[in-house]
Amino acid sequence: MNLKDIRHWVFDMDGTLTVAVHDFAAIREALEIPPQDDILTHLAALPAAEAAAKHAWLLAHERDLAMASQPAPGALELVRELAERGCALGILTRNARELAHVTLAAIGLAEYFPVPTIIGRDEAPPKPDPGGLLKLAQAWAVTPGELVMVGDYRFDLDCGRAAGARTVLVNLPDNPWPELTDWHAADCRALHALLEH
Ligand SMILES: [Mg+2]
Repeated sequence: MNLKDIRHWVFDMDGTLTVAVHDFAAIREALEIPPQDDILTHLAALPAAEAAAKHAWLLAHERDLAMASQPAPGALELVRELAERGCALGILTRNARELAHVTLAAIGLAEYFPVPTIIGRDEAPPKPDPGGLLKLAQAWAVTPGELVMVGDYRFDLDCGRAAGARTVLVNLPDNPWPELTDWHAADCRALHALLEH
């Protein structure tokens, strides 16, 4: 299958459509999370009151980041092109839905991703769990095999594979996970160019 024949596109947001700005090491330090732990998994295992307080801190920190977001090279042109072609577009992010919307508005892409098509950490189990992708497939009434998951990290690829979707890795010059990747593009501009074939 050629990339241009795919009609249902799901994007990771941070580091995929935006320039990555999260300093995860600083977040872990501020929230007293061990360096090797997954942030969301760690928070989920805490007593309720502590988890709530730390989630609130995380949300406030991420809101500041969201307002200052910058688009990744080629991301705006890529999304506009897909929209012009009539493709269905969605976001699957480990960020909160509300913040994803703020971020997309800050980079000029909010109009292409109506809020119901943004699956955040409260709408589905976080990636690499395939739940969010399966939810979008269901909403669009297509099989997961008709979706492509575009992301900049292993979780995005794992999630795509677990759902039975196709996968694209972007924004890394080399591909450390070829066995998980159907297409690799150095950035969104290069991915856009792949649509011509
Ligand atoms: Mg990412």
